[in-house]
Amino acid sequence: MNRRTFLKIFGASTALAAMPGCSTTEAKAAKKPKGPMTLRTNPTTGDKVSILGYGCMRLPKIDGSDEYDQDEVNRQVDYAMKSGVNYYDTSPRYCEGKSEAIMGKALSRHPRDSYFIATKLSNFDPSTWSYEESVKMFEDSLKNLQTDYIDYLLLHSVGGDKQDMGLDSMGLFNTRFIDNGVLDFLKKERDGGRIRNLGFSYHGDVKIFDHLLKMHDDGEVHWDFVQIQLNYLDWNNAKKSNDRNTDAEYLYNELAKRNIPSVIMEPLLGGRLAKVDNHVLGQMKQRRPDDTPAAWAFRFAATPPQVLCVLSGMTKMENIEENVATYSSLEPLTDDENVFLEKIAQHILDYPSIPCTECKYCMPCPFGVDIPTIFAHYNKALLDGNVVESPDSPNYEKAKRTFLVGYDRKVEPRRQADHCIGCGGCLSDCAQHIQIPTELHKIDAYVDHLKRN
Ligand code: SF4
Ligand code: SF4
Repeated sequence: MNRRTFLKIFGASTALAAMPGCSTTEAKAAKKPKGPMTLRTNPTTGDKVSILGYGCMRLPKIDGSDEYDQDEVNRQVDYAMKSGVNYYDTSPRYCEGKSEAIMGKALSRHPRDSYFIATKLSNFDPSTWSYEESVKMFEDSLKNLQTDYIDYLLLHSVGGDKQDMGLDSMGLFNTRFIDNGVLDFLKKERDGGRIRNLGFSYHGDVKIFDHLLKMHDDGEVHWDFVQIQLNYLDWNNAKKSNDRNTDAEYLYNELAKRNIPSVIMEPLLGGRLAKVDNHVLGQMKQRRPDDTPAAWAFRFAATPPQVLCVLSGMTKMENIEENVATYSSLEPLTDDENVFLEKIAQHILDYPSIPCTECKYCMPCPFGVDIPTIFAHYNKALLDGNVVESPDSPNYEKAKRTFLVGYDRKVEPRRQADHCIGCGGCLSDCAQHIQIPTELHKIDAYVDHLKRN
């Protein structure tokens, strides 16, 4: 790769690395709760829902093992319950299919009316598209969660496509939920009480979002809530921040004018807004010395009044403690702070990382590529200032060593980016619409550059 190609590919990244003192800067929580957990009211059922929702997609594992740590999950759930967190969001797909059962064990130790369970009809895979398989998935959710009703049931990840099967987003939605009678089944279950609220999580093509709201307007289905991605980067920069075609501001406002509450996912954009460079951190600390970048992002996500709940995929107790403190009680953003965060968003967009949330929907790759771990390593290196352009840079050797040693340590050689053959099989699975093979090839080119220079 010549210097020109290198600059074209890595220009923005290296600009970040060149910033003085640029580093990963997640600060330790310093705050304590100042009041009770903020609650929001569901206009349909009157549920008083905690503004902090417990996302169950990254449950803790036993140190040094691939086993999930049920005792630690129990401990975290007990702390969350005691702190007023009453919304728990899982899916048959989370944690390699184990999340619901783990959460069922943890939650069933508490009175059933003290918490709300959200789970999803996650029938992404063609083998689960039939009526029978989808209904089985719903019944299995009840069993795994040790309950006879679901408080919040979502059609999972509406808006993607399946180009390899000739299905655009509308075709895929109809196949998964309409033609097979699954939506009718779910509506009947809501009428019968085994589902208390019916909604969908939106990931993608806005024409599906508009279509589902038209169904609502036409009385074909009443959506009790909708889960959307909202954070200060996506509020009105979605196209630039993650190649989505819809700003969160549009999504939220369309729901709000219909009085449909929003449940928020990705308030930190896969952790990207918790790890800001020193320039951003300094500005944030100047305004609110005790707040971490994550606290800013969580306050932003919860400020719109028709947000019912903000989900956080919490793995460590300290994450839960910090989020509880931020929302006990919520201090909504002021107008001035909103303007401040818009400026911060512009700065972050000037120095792009890969917007991978490590959701693992793209896995497994048939060629063994460990996509999320590769992207996570690259993003961390970027934030730590270890993606460096020129061998003439003073920290080139150190950055090169850190990048390459870390790469081999975190990603087995047979699972690294050079094993991507560019088949594109993962593209339609990525909820963030990342051009996965293109990004992998860029990273591989960068690794190659480091090895040659
Ligand atoms: S494009 Fe690359 S990463 Fe994606 S499925 Fe194909 S080989 Fe795997
Ligand atoms: S590349 Fe996309 S689908 Fe894969 S883990 Fe990242 S965000 Fe999820």
